[in-house]
Amino acid sequence: MHFEITILGNGSATPTFQRHPSAQVLRVDDRVYLIDCGEGTQMQMGRYKVKSHRIMHIFISHLHGDHYLGLMGLLSSMHLQGRTTELHIYAHRELQSIIEYQMEVSHTRLRYPLVFHWHENIKGHSLFEDDHITVEPIPLEHRIPCVGFLFREKPRPVKLKPGVVEKYRIPYEAIESIKSGSDFTDSQGNVIASIDLTMPPSRQRSYAYCSDTLYNKAIEQKVRKVDVLYHETTFMHDLLERANETFHTTSLQAGMLANNAEIGKLLIGHFSARYSSATPLLEEARMHFPNAEVAEEGMTYAVE
Ligand SMILES: [Zn+2]
Ligand SMILES: [Zn+2]
Repeated sequence: MHFEITILGNGSATPTFQRHPSAQVLRVDDRVYLIDCGEGTQMQMGRYKVKSHRIMHIFISHLHGDHYLGLMGLLSSMHLQGRTTELHIYAHRELQSIIEYQMEVSHTRLRYPLVFHWHENIKGHSLFEDDHITVEPIPLEHRIPCVGFLFREKPRPVKLKPGVVEKYRIPYEAIESIKSGSDFTDSQGNVIASIDLTMPPSRQRSYAYCSDTLYNKAIEQKVRKVDVLYHETTFMHDLLERANETFHTTSLQAGMLANNAEIGKLLIGHFSARYSSATPLLEEARMHFPNAEVAEEGMTYAVE
């Protein structure tokens, strides 16, 4: 089953010719989840073959423009393309008024239901779940309320080992109970243990998305041992003061966080427009955490 992330934008607030503002898609099997939707996201989706009709859920971290200004255009295009299926948006409550006001002044009545879920209403640890994944909020520390997202795969079903059905003549009705741990008794009265008939379920994969935030120890706990962490690194560490003023993280800090949290792989992005190349940021992150990569636009990273 696919569990992979495609980067649509890795820049920050000021536009540049090289980078688009934040947006990425997570693909889990045939589901596509959009995470943030900066300006130009729908053009990037076209460029990298992301089909908008497959998106049912959009997660917006916060209401700085570089994380949501592409949303109105995308919603309008979905309407013009004749979409009728429900679309769910997870965001801070003000986004609903912002979108509805734009609809109102343009006399637009969407053909599809748009359902808002406010971050302010999050109770406990779950923001969303379906039969493939759960999404938990990650509290971030930014100039305005900001939430990261932790996507975890749900436990995958136990499977029978290849060939055992034929070998032991297992009737169809017995399969579910073997999968749930019962032993099987064949027609000669031989007992075959469930463990000899089944394969252990695959490991549950996880992906954490931390958009704009100050370096914060609490995040380490939340993203502990995730397979892949995307973390913003807007500045290099010589601009720590600027990072603190604007509630951002340096690449050195993101590397430290990745190392302390014992994650699998770090992807860095949300670079300030002052950096024409991301290489120095990457080198700095790798000082503490060697398995770091730049989240390159158009690239797909498997979560494994
Ligand atoms: Zn931002
Ligand atoms: Zn921001």
